Amino acid sequence: MKYSILFGPPGAGKGTQAASMVENYNLCHLSTGALLRSEIAAGTPLGLKAKSLIEAGNLVPDEVVEGMIASRFASAPAVAGFLLDGFPRTIAQAQALDAMLKERGEEVTAVVSIMIPDEMIAQRIAHRATIEGRADDAAPEIVQNRIDTYHQKTEPIIGYYSAAGKYHEIDGTGTIEEVAGRISALMNKF
Ligand code: AMP
Repeated sequence: MKYSILFGPPGAGKGTQAASMVENYNLCHLSTGALLRSEIAAGTPLGLKAKSLIEAGNLVPDEVVEGMIASRFASAPAVAGFLLDGFPRTIAQAQALDAMLKERGEEVTAVVSIMIPDEMIAQRIAHRATIEGRADDAAPEIVQNRIDTYHQKTEPIIGYYSAAGKYHEIDGTGTIEEVAGRISALMNKF
């Protein structure tokens, strides 16, 4: 089983690119952001707990997302692998993921990082706000908090996976098709 991580700042295009990747490579898409949004929509206790944190642009606690991922791994769908999107987002989550996979005799296959400059993050999120209507895309100060949170808490993951020889970065600027082509060229190596 392959365990690929789709990494990148908010607005880099992870969700957009994940859609074709799961189809092309027969992967199960696990987006912690999407899973949390569906918990909120269903009004579950977990959703209620996560709502205010997400809408303020803060991360939800590590153990919440780790639990969501662990339960999805346990249900083992008939796929070639998993595509983790938006997880891990902290070093603690990356370590928890390693431990979860080790228990299964598995490991992270590769980290595919879609990189865009900070100026483009805000532009892309402003564009998405007009299409998807996400509460955390609407206000500039919340978007800025997510960008700051990314730099402080999520970016250190780059060093973690680089040290393990698993980090691969592609240029996330350009059209959806151009970025998809760069991702395919990379994914075909694993
Ligand atoms: P996303 O859809 O990946 O942009 O995630 C939307 C929001 O969900 C984030 O800003 C966080 O508040 C929360 N979230 C998603 N994934 C995680 C994670 N791995 N750890 C903590 N919070 C997360």
